[in-house]
Amino acid sequence: MSTVPVKYHFASDNTSGVCPEAWQAMAEANAGYQPSYGADALTQQACETFRQFFETDCEVFFVFNGTAANSLSLATLCQSYNSVICSDVSHVETDECGAPEFFSNGSKLLLAKSSLGKLDPADVERLITHRTDLHYPRPRALSLSQSTELGTTYRPDEITALCQIAKKHGLHVHMDGARFFNALAALGTTPAEITWKAGVDVLCCGGTKLGMAVTEAVVFFNRDLARDFEYRCKQAGQLCSKMRFISAQWLQMLGNETWRKHATHGNTLASKLADGLRSLPDVDILYPVDANAVFASLPDSIKVGLKERGWMFYSFIGGGSRLMCSWATTEADVEAFLADAAAYS
Ligand SMILES: *Cc1c(COP(=O)(O)O)cnc(C)c1O
Repeated sequence: MSTVPVKYHFASDNTSGVCPEAWQAMAEANAGYQPSYGADALTQQACETFRQFFETDCEVFFVFNGTAANSLSLATLCQSYNSVICSDVSHVETDECGAPEFFSNGSKLLLAKSSLGKLDPADVERLITHRTDLHYPRPRALSLSQSTELGTTYRPDEITALCQIAKKHGLHVHMDGARFFNALAALGTTPAEITWKAGVDVLCCGGTKLGMAVTEAVVFFNRDLARDFEYRCKQAGQLCSKMRFISAQWLQMLGNETWRKHATHGNTLASKLADGLRSLPDVDILYPVDANAVFASLPDSIKVGLKERGWMFYSFIGGGSRLMCSWATTEADVEAFLADAAAYS
């Protein structure tokens, strides 16, 4: 039996490497001595660039990954007796090993119904209001993902509507933006319009899946909530001592529209991949391809055939086979995948 090399191209948007611009920014930062733990000039500039990007005086912190960004920010919004409302398919619920509950010392996640990965506003309100007695953990935060775990995006009015429900009942709003830039590029709005202007209090802004090395930014639009957040980061082992290597990347990605180039690229190739798959018999695309994810229902013959040819992808998320595109995906990758799929259809 011949063995073919395993191809991780579409398995996730974090199987790719670091994009050249971020790598170059790190290389340029790699000279001489600088103050550590974020006291350096590049970090100050990077935070200032975030404030310009979002057109507001936000507080910005850099951590190493999305699980930390989500769970530390949710822990900040909640007391241990509080609860967080999130979708039943959210990453905080399904893929963080209980970290939000752990870092908040026990805040419970309450799962709301979702449709195409997006929270159902009526079910959110039902969850907030159906118990008000002290035997039930009191809802204090609403968490939504942009883009969603199923590759769809919330329009600004949908975010505003959810935030209004949350605010009406005294909840803070957290946005899991592991793929924030894919959503932003797809929607063509300003960064402000889909965050603080819509009512979001804190955004976990994804760097890794965009093409950066080991970083996500936690952006507090509500500055009061950011109080002492640096202590949380430090205690959780999420304060980088050589912060300048992270900050240099953010400066490059945000300051020079590099984010848009890579996010748009991933989105475009995902839609190309979806179009190609759609043209094959018995293949269905399960959700709107708003960003850089394609969820396909593939006949077993194609699924098995693709795996035989080495293609790696997951079929346990969202009820279909998930294919992710990133800054690194090429047209040739998409064509090769489609040709192999066609060979087994
Ligand atoms: C990838 C991802 C994260 C972050 O995961 P880490 O592996 O902890 O960096 C968070 N939310 C969503 C929706 C994701 O897809």
